[in-house]
Amino acid sequence: MNLAQLRRMSYDEVAKCNKCGFCLPNCPVYLAEGKESSAPRGRNAITRAVIEGRLEWSPEIEKSIFSCLGCGACTAACFPKVKTKDLVFRDRECLVGEGLYPKIADRVVRFLEEKHNISDDDNQERAEWQEMMGDMPEGALEKERADVIFFVGCVASFFPMAQKIPVNMARILRKAGVDFTVLGGEEWCCGFPLIGTGMPDKMKGLMEHNIKKVEEVGAKSVVFTCPSCYHTWKSLYQLPGVELYHSSQMLHRMVQDGLIKPKEMKVTVTYHDPCDLGRNSGVFQEPRQVLKAIPGLKLVELAHNQMLSMCCGGGGNVEMVNPELSAMVARMKLQEIADTKADMVVSSCQQCLRTIATRARREKQNLVVKDLTELVFEAIE
Ligand code: SF4
Ligand code: SF4
Repeated sequence: MNLAQLRRMSYDEVAKCNKCGFCLPNCPVYLAEGKESSAPRGRNAITRAVIEGRLEWSPEIEKSIFSCLGCGACTAACFPKVKTKDLVFRDRECLVGEGLYPKIADRVVRFLEEKHNISDDDNQERAEWQEMMGDMPEGALEKERADVIFFVGCVASFFPMAQKIPVNMARILRKAGVDFTVLGGEEWCCGFPLIGTGMPDKMKGLMEHNIKKVEEVGAKSVVFTCPSCYHTWKSLYQLPGVELYHSSQMLHRMVQDGLIKPKEMKVTVTYHDPCDLGRNSGVFQEPRQVLKAIPGLKLVELAHNQMLSMCCGGGGNVEMVNPELSAMVARMKLQEIADTKADMVVSSCQQCLRTIATRARREKQNLVVKDLTELVFEAIE
């Protein structure tokens, strides 16, 4: 994207920012770093100054623009509802055009082009987590035709800490009698990481491949345990007639239809809203309803929840570019979780699970972190 395109697409939006600063206490990066250049207001001022020709792109601006988590919490606190996240992501596209971007992004692009996943593994290894199912023949989850495709996503496919998420989701789907398949090595990254790197123009091949697979399988729905895959498909994939669900929505439906019947669990949990599921996709109630359907479970809310929920630190590719900043945000999240005195934190996202659990371990905290799928499977076993 060049400056003229940025001006055309962003100027009216950024001009809505009246510099009031109401967004500041909502921005985890500003809370962590305390700098105006880390704040939504500061980023908007930079965008406007560049568009108006008062400022030139520079490495300092690159640092500011690539340290946004894309969490959208600023917009939730903003009266004119300035879409700072979208402005920041368009700035990134412009910065990429200037060669000003974290060069680690080039590796991600290469992995996606050559291996179709973010971890540079052979894409056939996507099926590795199925070995943890234990109780079924190899390949039993991969069928040529099915009503539902379970799209696993790169993180849950390749990162051992998150692999129990697809294992539990697949067990629940089987138990509920859903006719589903996974794509195994034929699942390609949804393209979401390219949005955060400022290179969404490179997503086309990935999206076309995944859409073709849905058509070949003849699926009526696709379910995602990853909120970012779900959000990306919802907003960018053209699939008329195919329903897209996040796992929490499908679990909610299964509970309502009596396909799964949770048993009693005497436990107090708090729920962390993943940014791409809650604020960015509007799914707040379904995961809570599923938790409330477990008899004996007590749900206590975090101080910042739903629209005002605080990111875990794992968003916007910040973990890749600035791991220390990501860790600072995760520490704030840990404190908020500890303040609830809950027995465990439940979320509905492999990246939140990884970020929160990793930070807790590094801080030597005995925090129990579960994905909703894990808790539900325990409740119906
Ligand atoms: S982004 Fe919204 S809340 Fe923040 S300074 Fe601008 S107008 Fe105020
Ligand atoms: S999207 Fe999140 S990290 Fe980025 S400016 Fe807004 S509140 Fe801050």
